[in-house]
Amino acid sequence: MRSPRSRSFLNRRRADSCTPWRRCALGLVAACAVAPVAAQVQIPEAQAVEDLAAFAATYHDRAGWERRAALLRTEILQAAGLVPLPRRTALRVVRHSKVRRDGYSVENVWFEAFPGFFVSGNLYLPAPQRPASDPEPKAPRRLAGILCPHGHWAEGRFRPDMQKRCGVLARMGAAVFTYDMAGWQESTQVDHRKDKAVLTYQVWSSMRAIDFLCSIETVDPRRIGVTGASGGGTQTFLLAALDDRVAASAPVVMVSAHFFGGCNCESGLPIHRGPRHRTNNAEIAALAAPRPQLLVSCGKDWTKNVPRVELGYVRGVYRLFGKAELIENAHFAAEGHDYGASKRKPVYAFFAARLGLRAATAEDESRVEVLPHASLRCFDAQHPRPTHAVVGRERVAAAFAASRRAKVVR
Ligand SMILES: [Zn+2]
Repeated sequence: MRSPRSRSFLNRRRADSCTPWRRCALGLVAACAVAPVAAQVQIPEAQAVEDLAAFAATYHDRAGWERRAALLRTEILQAAGLVPLPRRTALRVVRHSKVRRDGYSVENVWFEAFPGFFVSGNLYLPAPQRPASDPEPKAPRRLAGILCPHGHWAEGRFRPDMQKRCGVLARMGAAVFTYDMAGWQESTQVDHRKDKAVLTYQVWSSMRAIDFLCSIETVDPRRIGVTGASGGGTQTFLLAALDDRVAASAPVVMVSAHFFGGCNCESGLPIHRGPRHRTNNAEIAALAAPRPQLLVSCGKDWTKNVPRVELGYVRGVYRLFGKAELIENAHFAAEGHDYGASKRKPVYAFFAARLGLRAATAEDESRVEVLPHASLRCFDAQHPRPTHAVVGRERVAAAFAASRRAKVVR
């Protein structure tokens, strides 16, 4: 496992500013169940274009960008409450209830992001491949690892489209982990609607989810990917920006220069603006450069301008590394805010190319069975959540603070 560069991103203070929450006005009332608590949420599109030009004027070459990138990472981590990063305490992974399906398996997994705080999810693994034509057993190729965070949609990681995505990526040859947002589905230790620290816990949980994938002997730590849509898209580009173990990323319907998310876990803490920095989500996506990235956008939400605004800015950064071809865009002008089958298709092709997976075939999604929620649950009567779980804003915050001083036990 490579040690994350993010451990060295230290320093500084933060400020706060509030504007009205706008997500409901964008027609997502039915999809979102998130409270109106946020810092900067939305700015005029023309101002977003001017902002990008102003950001671009602060550097003129790769070295200049790298200085700005280092400053932004430092300030974002500081604003996110991740300076210093907590200790990487024992994950205490529990895996159970494995089911085998056509070409893949699913099991229910929890681990501790920090002592007493549980991340609940599902691990999808490819079925072992045994080529009949090759009688000589060979050392199997290690698996890529892909994280699949979910957005602010009902059913979270249990949604049929989430199960399809995870199952297909596993069938293609990846170990895939999908996990609850903090305070969503089986994660009930904090209130996603009321606790701004969910941003902190989610970024840290995603970093620990990479630790979990890398702890699986068959996973190649150099081939880690992440993809999610909407709030899952925010988690995707934040993780790629802050943890350089992410080798390839595909944020879906979220990267925008004029819209910042609006939820506690996206813009509830002032990661976009502070005494020493100002940025937006297009520039945060650029922090992944020069690692391969696919921006998936559509015509009916805040990613409508990606092909002519955000993509140009991000590509400009990749060009400084001589890697303009490693930032891609799949735009669906007639489509809306979702991670539907049409948007999943280019993501499968992207990970096949960038992480060395088998290509997806047209029938792959039909081979993934949508399982009932009950069979995907981590915590049930036979597998109760451990009694040392901390619950409530103050107790979780105290446990998180204590984890900065904890002994690392691997
Ligand atoms: Zn959220």
